[in-house]
Amino acid sequence: MADMNTTETPALNKASADAIEQLASVFSAYNDTTERMRYSYQRLQEDVVRLREELREKNEQLERKSRLAALGEMAAGMAHEIRNPLGGVQLYASLLERDLAEQDEPLQWVRKISKGVQALDRIVSDILAFTTEQMCVKEPVQVGAVLEEVLDLCRPRLADGTVCVHIDESAAGLTAAADAMMLQRILMNLLLNAIDAAGANEAGGHVWVRGKRYEEDGDIRVRLDVADNGSGIEPGVLVKIFNPFFTTKDTGTGLGLAIVHRLVECHGGVITAANGADGGAVFTVILPA
Ligand code: ADP
Repeated sequence: MADMNTTETPALNKASADAIEQLASVFSAYNDTTERMRYSYQRLQEDVVRLREELREKNEQLERKSRLAALGEMAAGMAHEIRNPLGGVQLYASLLERDLAEQDEPLQWVRKISKGVQALDRIVSDILAFTTEQMCVKEPVQVGAVLEEVLDLCRPRLADGTVCVHIDESAAGLTAAADAMMLQRILMNLLLNAIDAAGANEAGGHVWVRGKRYEEDGDIRVRLDVADNGSGIEPGVLVKIFNPFFTTKDTGTGLGLAIVHRLVECHGGVITAANGADGGAVFTVILPA
């Protein structure tokens, strides 16, 4: 038996070696194809997850847009109805102010009426700004120039010297692709809030505006940080901070940050709120450059 095997072995061995080689290449091709299919399946699954998420976000945006459109219509009607009688009150208050020029106490009362009317008018403007469609006309804007204008408008709030605003060159030297009026409103709201918060720091309030230009996914972006040394933001407040009408202030409307959020979104930008590493709040705005 042993002899017979040895005489047949070379031919048989060659045939079986060929067969094994063929089988091995079939297995290898099968393994390659399976691996490729597994990879494609994984990629497809990832695409499905990404597309689902995009769809969810788009649906949310659409829902938000139609909610805002409905709210905008209502607000425009309300603004009209409120502003008409308000205009009358303001007119009579101005006439009274003129007639009472010599009488100190009644003059103070009339001025209080005027202030109240102005405050109501501001609330109406804020509601309109939040609810109506915003036209964002982007152009290259010097952030430093806008910050100067904003600081000028904030002067009355800085007059008592309790808060100091530091504008870093890293922010002032930036150029953003933005709507200048909208950027002014964004920075104004953030600065006024920061001044409010820093004003409560008995050791002296400070507000810092810093910036940075950077590249992300091939796009150049501008980042602006408005930080303060106030008491910071509690976790319960942080989750609601951009909601319209959310306020922790006695005289607040809770519309400032909701408007800021909308204006930043109009630019295709992002705004976030956080607590700084050394305390205080930090608001970060990212805009296209
Ligand atoms: P308002 O100033 O009328 O309250 P905002 O929308 O501007 O409305 O702000 C909403 C709330 O966010 C504020 O009432 C406050 O609680 C919180 N907030 C805003 N900015 C700061 C800040 N820099 N530090 C701490 N809390 C802040």
